[in-house]
Amino acid sequence: MDLGIKGRTAIVCAASKGLGKGCAVALAREGVDVVISARGAEALHATAEEIRRETGVRVTPVACDVTTDDGRKALLAACPNPDILINNAGGPPPGDFKDFSLDDWRRAVEWNMISPIALIHATVYGMMSRGFGRILNITSFSVKAPIANLELSNGARAGLTGAVAVLARKASASNVTINNILPGPFETDRLRGTTTKMAEASGRAFDDVHKERMRGVPAGRFGTTSEFGAMAAFLCSGHAGFVTGQNIVMDGGSYPGTL
Ligand code: NAP
Repeated sequence: MDLGIKGRTAIVCAASKGLGKGCAVALAREGVDVVISARGAEALHATAEEIRRETGVRVTPVACDVTTDDGRKALLAACPNPDILINNAGGPPPGDFKDFSLDDWRRAVEWNMISPIALIHATVYGMMSRGFGRILNITSFSVKAPIANLELSNGARAGLTGAVAVLARKASASNVTINNILPGPFETDRLRGTTTKMAEASGRAFDDVHKERMRGVPAGRFGTTSEFGAMAAFLCSGHAGFVTGQNIVMDGGSYPGTL
């Protein structure tokens, strides 16, 4: 299927690795020029070169922290009028409610709620005036059912979901959509990092915990970044203009609240 977005331009935040990279690769394969960001310049430039070599599209790497005003400014300077925006950043750390300070909460909200809202605000009205726009927020399946240990993430991501739910409807008459993809367990550095912490905390081997987590997914495996990217690319396609304000779970059938 031709997704009908060849020649469009996308900002893909937090895209040197993992789910963000999966989205950037999938869009680039459809002929979309991509502006990708991450804090670490080395991995970002390597990813940019990899995508360029495979797809031939224009790839602009912007090394910045997307959760800061300066970072977002740099990103928008490189691409003031994107047709597609994919919001993403690192997730907040695990922990227990009693140990979180107000600063921990402020940081989580800044990272996973305010930053995407700021980028949406800066781009959505231009998209509406041009008559095409696709915005995706990478959130978490914790929006549907809380994940124990990830209270900061549960709160901030549900906040973002509510914050853009009305805008997603208002924008749709101008062929601009806003949707959220809610990943369950995907095979990325983030997942391997949380497995490492679980293994350390329980004194077990990484491989044991990794396999146990995998067995807990009804699909019997973790998701892949290319599956995630393919879903994102379709939601950004010319065919998806009637899909807005949705929370699309990709979790291999996982039971609520497990990760
Ligand atoms: P990942 O493999 O660790 O990749 C994260 C990417 O984001 C890297 O390119 C990283 O590069 C970049 N990044 C992180 N913080 C950034 C920032 N402040 N500004 C710019 N770039 C930033 O993580 P992932 O698994 O793809 O996860 C992406 C998001 O999905 C996270 O919020 C995560 O919590 C959420 N999620 C993931 C899963 C899963 O199973 N993987 C499940 C549910 C939710 P630098 O470090 O160089 O900046």
